[in-house]
Amino acid sequence: MLIDTHVHLDAFPDSEIEAILGRGHDVGVGFVICAGTTVDSSIRCIELSRRFHPFFSGVGVHPMDISKPLTTKDYQTLTELASTEPKVIVMSEIGLDYMEGMPDRAWQFSAFREQISIARALKLPIVFHSREAHQDCLRVLKEEKGYEVGGIMHYFQGSLEEARQVIDLGFYISIARPIFRLPHLQEVVAKIPIENIVIETDSAPQPFKKNRDNWTEPRYLRPIMEKIAELKGMDTGMVEASLFQNTKKLLSGQWDIVTKFVSNS
Ligand SMILES: [Zn+2]
Repeated sequence: MLIDTHVHLDAFPDSEIEAILGRGHDVGVGFVICAGTTVDSSIRCIELSRRFHPFFSGVGVHPMDISKPLTTKDYQTLTELASTEPKVIVMSEIGLDYMEGMPDRAWQFSAFREQISIARALKLPIVFHSREAHQDCLRVLKEEKGYEVGGIMHYFQGSLEEARQVIDLGFYISIARPIFRLPHLQEVVAKIPIENIVIETDSAPQPFKKNRDNWTEPRYLRPIMEKIAELKGMDTGMVEASLFQNTKKLLSGQWDIVTKFVSNS
Protein backbone atom coordinates (compact mmCIF):
# COMPACT_ATOMS: atom_id res chain seq x y z
CA MET A 1 0.00 0.00 0.00
CA LEU A 2 1.16 3.49 -0.88
CA ILE A 3 0.21 6.47 1.30
CA ASP A 4 0.06 10.02 -0.05
CA THR A 5 1.21 12.07 2.94
CA HIS A 6 0.37 15.43 1.38
CA VAL A 7 -2.35 16.49 -1.05
CA HIS A 8 -4.60 19.49 -1.61
CA LEU A 9 -7.55 17.60 -3.04
CA ASP A 10 -9.88 20.04 -1.26
CA ALA A 11 -8.98 22.49 -4.05
CA PHE A 12 -10.72 20.28 -6.61
CA PRO A 13 -14.45 20.44 -7.23
CA ASP A 14 -16.43 17.78 -5.36
CA SER A 15 -17.37 16.09 -8.60
CA GLU A 16 -13.74 15.20 -9.35
CA ILE A 17 -12.52 13.92 -6.01
CA GLU A 18 -14.05 10.46 -6.12
CA ALA A 19 -12.51 9.74 -9.53
CA ILE A 20 -9.09 11.04 -8.42
CA LEU A 21 -9.18 8.76 -5.36
CA GLY A 22 -10.34 5.90 -7.58
CA ARG A 23 -7.41 6.33 -9.99
CA GLY A 24 -5.10 6.30 -6.96
CA HIS A 25 -6.76 3.20 -5.54
CA ASP A 26 -6.21 1.42 -8.89
CA VAL A 27 -2.43 1.71 -8.45
CA GLY A 28 -2.39 0.83 -4.75
CA VAL A 29 -2.84 4.16 -3.00
CA GLY A 30 -4.38 3.19 0.34
CA PHE A 31 -5.18 6.67 1.56
CA VAL A 32 -4.32 10.36 1.28
CA ILE A 33 -3.75 13.08 3.88
CA CYS A 34 -5.17 16.41 2.81
CA ALA A 35 -3.38 19.53 4.08
CA GLY A 36 -5.40 22.52 5.19
CA THR A 37 -3.98 25.88 4.12
CA THR A 38 -6.45 28.19 5.87
CA VAL A 39 -9.09 27.69 8.56
CA ASP A 40 -11.73 27.36 5.83
CA SER A 41 -9.72 24.91 3.77
CA SER A 42 -9.02 22.86 6.93
CA ILE A 43 -12.79 22.66 7.45
CA ARG A 44 -13.28 21.57 3.85
CA CYS A 45 -10.58 18.86 4.21
CA ILE A 46 -12.44 17.56 7.25
CA GLU A 47 -15.78 17.59 5.44
CA LEU A 48 -14.25 15.56 2.62
CA SER A 49 -12.72 13.13 5.12
CA ARG A 50 -16.21 12.45 6.41
CA ARG A 51 -17.40 11.57 2.91
CA PHE A 52 -14.49 9.48 1.65
CA HIS A 53 -12.98 6.61 3.61
CA PRO A 54 -9.41 6.75 2.25
CA PHE A 55 -9.23 10.47 3.00
CA PHE A 56 -7.63 11.88 6.14
CA SER A 57 -6.95 15.43 7.03
CA GLY A 58 -4.58 17.91 8.53
CA VAL A 59 -5.46 21.33 9.88
CA GLY A 60 -3.25 24.37 9.63
CA VAL A 61 -2.62 27.75 8.11
CA HIS A 62 -0.01 27.85 5.34
CA PRO A 63 2.62 30.63 5.57
CA MET A 64 1.58 31.91 2.11
CA ASP A 65 -1.96 32.41 3.37
CA ILE A 66 -1.22 34.56 6.40
CA SER A 67 -2.67 37.72 4.92
CA LYS A 68 -3.12 39.14 8.42
CA PRO A 69 -1.89 38.05 11.84
CA LEU A 70 -3.71 34.95 13.05
CA THR A 71 -5.98 35.59 16.01
CA THR A 72 -6.60 33.71 19.24
CA LYS A 73 -9.90 32.68 17.72
CA ASP A 74 -8.12 31.17 14.68
CA TYR A 75 -5.92 29.10 16.97
CA GLN A 76 -8.92 28.06 19.04
CA THR A 77 -10.78 26.95 15.92
CA LEU A 78 -7.80 24.92 14.68
CA THR A 79 -7.43 23.33 18.12
CA GLU A 80 -11.10 22.49 18.31
CA LEU A 81 -11.18 20.99 14.82
CA ALA A 82 -8.10 18.90 15.46
CA SER A 83 -9.26 17.66 18.83
CA THR A 84 -12.85 16.82 17.94
CA GLU A 85 -12.49 15.40 14.42
CA PRO A 86 -11.08 11.86 14.58
CA LYS A 87 -9.80 11.90 10.99
CA VAL A 88 -7.50 14.86 11.64
CA ILE A 89 -4.20 13.02 11.98
CA VAL A 90 -1.55 15.72 11.39
CA MET A 91 -0.92 19.44 11.82
CA SER A 92 -0.58 20.45 8.16
CA GLU A 93 0.35 22.66 6.41
CA ILE A 94 2.43 25.04 8.47
CA GLY A 95 5.90 26.54 8.09
CA LEU A 96 7.86 29.48 6.74
CA ASP A 97 8.13 30.91 3.22
CA TYR A 98 10.75 33.57 2.45
CA MET A 99 10.10 33.94 -1.23
CA GLU A 100 9.71 37.54 -2.34
CA GLY A 101 6.20 38.89 -1.90
CA MET A 102 5.30 36.42 0.85
CA PRO A 103 3.50 37.57 4.03
CA ASP A 104 5.20 39.46 6.85
CA ARG A 105 7.82 37.26 8.49
CA ALA A 106 6.89 38.19 12.06
CA TRP A 107 3.32 37.00 11.34
CA GLN A 108 4.67 33.81 9.82
CA PHE A 109 6.92 33.15 12.81
CA SER A 110 4.20 33.54 15.40
CA ALA A 111 1.75 31.42 13.37
CA PHE A 112 4.38 28.69 12.99
CA ARG A 113 5.23 28.75 16.70
CA GLU A 114 1.59 28.72 17.84
CA GLN A 115 0.66 25.90 15.50
CA ILE A 116 3.64 23.81 16.63
CA SER A 117 2.42 24.22 20.18
CA ILE A 118 -1.09 23.10 19.18
CA ALA A 119 0.43 20.03 17.50
CA ARG A 120 2.38 19.23 20.67
CA ALA A 121 -0.64 19.68 22.90
CA LEU A 122 -2.69 17.33 20.70
CA LYS A 123 0.22 14.97 19.94
CA LEU A 124 -0.13 15.38 16.19
CA PRO A 125 2.83 15.06 13.80
CA ILE A 126 3.83 18.32 12.12
CA VAL A 127 3.96 18.57 8.31
CA PHE A 128 5.97 21.67 7.48
CA HIS A 129 6.55 23.78 4.40
CA SER A 130 9.87 25.54 3.96
CA ARG A 131 10.85 27.74 1.04
CA GLU A 132 14.20 29.49 1.31
CA ALA A 133 13.73 29.19 5.08
CA HIS A 134 15.21 25.80 6.02
CA GLN A 135 17.51 26.98 8.82
CA ASP A 136 14.83 29.11 10.45
CA CYS A 137 12.26 26.30 10.19
CA LEU A 138 14.62 23.89 11.89
CA ARG A 139 15.56 26.45 14.54
CA VAL A 140 11.91 27.19 15.38
CA LEU A 141 11.06 23.47 15.45
CA LYS A 142 13.95 23.00 17.88
CA GLU A 143 13.02 25.98 20.06
CA GLU A 144 9.36 24.97 20.19
CA LYS A 145 10.22 21.30 20.80
CA GLY A 146 8.48 20.18 17.61
CA TYR A 147 10.64 17.08 17.71
CA GLU A 148 8.46 15.79 20.55
CA VAL A 149 5.79 14.94 17.99
CA GLY A 150 8.03 14.72 14.91
CA GLY A 151 6.62 14.92 11.42
CA ILE A 152 7.57 15.55 7.83
CA MET A 153 9.47 18.15 5.83
CA HIS A 154 7.10 18.21 2.93
CA TYR A 155 8.11 18.38 -0.78
CA PHE A 156 11.79 18.12 0.10
CA GLN A 157 14.16 19.60 -2.49
CA GLY A 158 17.10 20.57 -0.26
CA SER A 159 20.71 19.44 0.00
CA LEU A 160 22.13 16.31 1.60
CA GLU A 161 23.31 18.39 4.56
CA GLU A 162 19.79 19.80 5.04
CA ALA A 163 18.27 16.33 4.76
CA ARG A 164 20.60 15.14 7.52
CA GLN A 165 19.64 18.07 9.76
CA VAL A 166 15.94 17.33 9.25
CA ILE A 167 16.47 13.65 10.05
CA ASP A 168 18.60 14.47 13.09
CA LEU A 169 15.74 16.56 14.42
CA GLY A 170 13.47 13.52 14.19
CA PHE A 171 11.58 14.35 11.00
CA TYR A 172 11.01 12.48 7.76
CA ILE A 173 11.92 13.74 4.30
CA SER A 174 8.97 13.69 1.91
CA ILE A 175 9.77 13.04 -1.74
CA ALA A 176 7.49 14.13 -4.57
CA ARG A 177 7.72 14.52 -8.36
CA PRO A 178 10.81 16.79 -8.34
CA ILE A 179 12.71 13.51 -7.90
CA PHE A 180 12.33 13.00 -11.66
CA ARG A 181 14.04 16.25 -12.64
CA LEU A 182 16.48 17.34 -9.92
CA PRO A 183 19.84 15.51 -10.08
CA HIS A 184 20.93 16.79 -6.65
CA LEU A 185 17.72 15.43 -5.10
CA GLN A 186 18.32 12.06 -6.75
CA GLU A 187 21.71 12.01 -5.08
CA VAL A 188 20.18 12.90 -1.70
CA VAL A 189 17.65 10.08 -2.01
CA ALA A 190 20.38 7.62 -3.01
CA LYS A 191 22.35 8.53 0.12
CA ILE A 192 19.82 8.89 2.94
CA PRO A 193 18.42 5.76 4.57
CA ILE A 194 15.08 4.52 3.26
CA GLU A 195 13.91 4.55 6.90
CA ASN A 196 13.79 8.36 6.79
CA ILE A 197 11.69 8.78 3.65
CA VAL A 198 7.97 9.15 3.00
CA ILE A 199 6.26 10.15 -0.25
CA GLU A 200 3.60 12.56 -1.42
CA THR A 201 2.21 14.21 -4.54
CA ASP A 202 1.07 17.65 -3.24
CA SER A 203 -1.78 17.18 -5.73
CA ALA A 204 -3.71 20.35 -6.50
CA PRO A 205 -5.42 21.63 -9.64
CA GLN A 206 -2.86 22.60 -12.30
CA PRO A 207 -4.78 24.58 -14.91
CA PHE A 208 -1.46 25.78 -16.39
CA LYS A 209 -0.98 22.23 -17.70
CA LYS A 210 -3.27 22.06 -20.71
CA ASN A 211 -3.48 18.28 -20.79
CA ARG A 212 -5.63 17.20 -17.82
CA ASP A 213 -3.89 13.80 -17.81
CA ASN A 214 -0.64 15.46 -16.76
CA TRP A 215 -2.06 17.06 -13.62
CA THR A 216 -0.41 15.61 -10.54
CA GLU A 217 -2.63 13.14 -8.73
CA PRO A 218 -2.09 10.56 -5.99
CA ARG A 219 -1.69 7.89 -8.71
CA TYR A 220 1.79 9.35 -9.37
CA LEU A 221 2.94 7.90 -6.04
CA ARG A 222 3.74 4.64 -7.80
CA PRO A 223 6.30 6.08 -10.27
CA ILE A 224 7.77 8.16 -7.42
CA MET A 225 8.21 5.00 -5.33
CA GLU A 226 9.71 3.18 -8.33
CA LYS A 227 12.16 6.01 -8.93
CA ILE A 228 13.31 5.82 -5.30
CA ALA A 229 13.83 2.07 -5.70
CA GLU A 230 15.87 2.62 -8.86
CA LEU A 231 18.04 5.31 -7.22
CA LYS A 232 18.70 3.14 -4.20
CA GLY A 233 19.16 -0.08 -6.17
CA MET A 234 16.41 -1.69 -4.11
CA ASP A 235 13.54 -3.97 -4.95
CA THR A 236 10.28 -2.01 -5.42
CA GLY A 237 8.42 -4.34 -3.05
CA MET A 238 10.95 -3.59 -0.34
CA VAL A 239 10.74 0.15 -0.91
CA GLU A 240 6.95 0.11 -0.88
CA ALA A 241 6.96 -1.86 2.38
CA SER A 242 9.54 0.48 3.96
CA LEU A 243 7.66 3.63 2.99
CA PHE A 244 4.51 2.11 4.45
CA GLN A 245 6.26 1.23 7.72
CA ASN A 246 7.77 4.71 7.97
CA THR A 247 4.38 6.37 7.57
CA LYS A 248 2.81 3.96 10.02
CA LYS A 249 5.51 4.74 12.56
CA LEU A 250 5.06 8.46 12.06
CA LEU A 251 1.31 8.10 12.56
CA SER A 252 1.56 5.54 15.35
CA GLY A 253 -0.57 7.65 17.70
CA GLN A 254 -3.23 7.96 14.99
CA TRP A 255 -3.00 4.49 13.48
CA ASP A 256 -6.08 3.16 15.27
CA ILE A 257 -8.25 5.63 13.42
CA VAL A 258 -6.52 4.82 10.13
CA THR A 259 -7.34 1.12 10.48
CA LYS A 260 -11.00 1.96 11.05
CA PHE A 261 -11.27 3.37 7.53
CA VAL A 262 -8.58 1.61 5.53
CA SER A 263 -8.45 -2.13 5.05
CA ASN A 264 -5.13 -4.02 4.95
CA SER A 265 -3.51 -1.37 7.10
ZN1 LIG B 1 1.12 21.62 0.22
